Amino acid sequence: MTARRKEFHQRVEEAFANPQMRKSVPITQDNLRFGRIRAMEELKNGEAWREIASQIRNHTLDHLQEYVNELITNFEKNGGKAHFAKNGEEAVQTVLSIARKHQAKRVVKSKSMVTEEIHLNHALEEDGINVVETDLGEFIIQLAGETPSHILAPAIHKSRQEVAELFSKEAGRPLTDRTEDLTRYARERLRQEFLDADLGITGCNFAVAESGSIILISNEGNARMTSSLPKVHIVVMGMERVVPTWAELDVLVTMLTRNATGQKLSVYMTAISGPRRAGDLDGPEEVHLIILDNGRSDILESKYREVLKCIRCSACVNVCPVYREIGGHAYGGVYSGPIGAVLTPLLDGMEKNKELPFASSLCGACTEVCPVKIPLHHYLIEERKDLVEKGFLPKQERVTFQAFAFLTSHPLFYRSAVRGAGRLSPMFGRDGVLKKGPGMLAGWTDGRDLPLPAKESFHDWWRRQRGEKR
Ligand code: SF4
Repeated sequence: MTARRKEFHQRVEEAFANPQMRKSVPITQDNLRFGRIRAMEELKNGEAWREIASQIRNHTLDHLQEYVNELITNFEKNGGKAHFAKNGEEAVQTVLSIARKHQAKRVVKSKSMVTEEIHLNHALEEDGINVVETDLGEFIIQLAGETPSHILAPAIHKSRQEVAELFSKEAGRPLTDRTEDLTRYARERLRQEFLDADLGITGCNFAVAESGSIILISNEGNARMTSSLPKVHIVVMGMERVVPTWAELDVLVTMLTRNATGQKLSVYMTAISGPRRAGDLDGPEEVHLIILDNGRSDILESKYREVLKCIRCSACVNVCPVYREIGGHAYGGVYSGPIGAVLTPLLDGMEKNKELPFASSLCGACTEVCPVKIPLHHYLIEERKDLVEKGFLPKQERVTFQAFAFLTSHPLFYRSAVRGAGRLSPMFGRDGVLKKGPGMLAGWTDGRDLPLPAKESFHDWWRRQRGEKR
């Protein structure tokens, strides 16, 4: 069964029962979180940077179609070929038709969430094409037959020992779990894949409209090899990834790397402006750019439009107390953490993902760190409202909240109910707590004790103190 088809609660239970994941996730989350704090403090005026980055993204979204058109024009002037895909299926078919035209049998890929979103690997493999992920984390989870559990660190949930087991199986000989040995094996194994590949597929961190350039940001150098060694390079980008000019790119790259990994700049930043030209020593003969909508135009027209400002830095994921407990697979989609909880229902359907907006404590930490100021926890509340209005929540839950709303808006009934609950509560629990609740309360009491209502309400106590009648 894939994570997608499992019930949310089942996925959460599985996460709780995975001690390795529960150990690894907080360690990496803390490393990334503290790295981000240091890197933003270095800027001195981090808030001003956030404000500028937010304004750049808002401006781009206000003129999205114009900038996408400008990008296409300039990209094609540079000798590339641009394609527009309304949905995932169109994007996949475009990739397949390019692959078939070149009789491609071997594909190398660098990490790309958007290709995960459209399930590209699966479609290529069904077509008889061998796909190899070349980002170390992606390579690990590909060998494990899993999906990414973090936007930046897809194998965050795996230990070194688990990686050593996977690599040993792949290598057909035992490897130690020393990091140097594991990375050496991956480097040697992947080097040959780059050299043999017919096609390279990458995502796109940003695309600069004024020059038609694709920007790839990585720390391992694999994106550069994927885009320069095979004869054909295909870029798949979400349509919102465009930036107007290099000046705006400067701000956004700064915000991305500092908020993602706490680096001033990533180790590699590659700008691709078309295929190899006469006299170039390397580079692909063809470069294709597939610009994907897949629901983004609808989001742009909705009250959730600002979610398209996201630059996939994962800062929100790294501060989320819910992600810390349940890890990425429990979200069941490509994107996890707060951005996943907001975005997945919008891209993949509200009803299908109705639990996700509730996978939040609404502490607001995500909104506070987001470098482009997306009001993440406000959107989660808004989505909860939408789910209620559309009738997507269980009837029992709806009736309970309707009763609660009625009581809290009718003081007389509310006081009577509180008094009644106080008197009856000793019948249901012991020592002031309820250990096994009925109905919906069972979900709560399975994980913790529920304090029983006090015998005397605060309201009654207050009146008694003041000598007032009830
Ligand atoms: S929502 Fe904000 S913090 Fe989260 S990944 Fe996107 S840009 Fe980063």
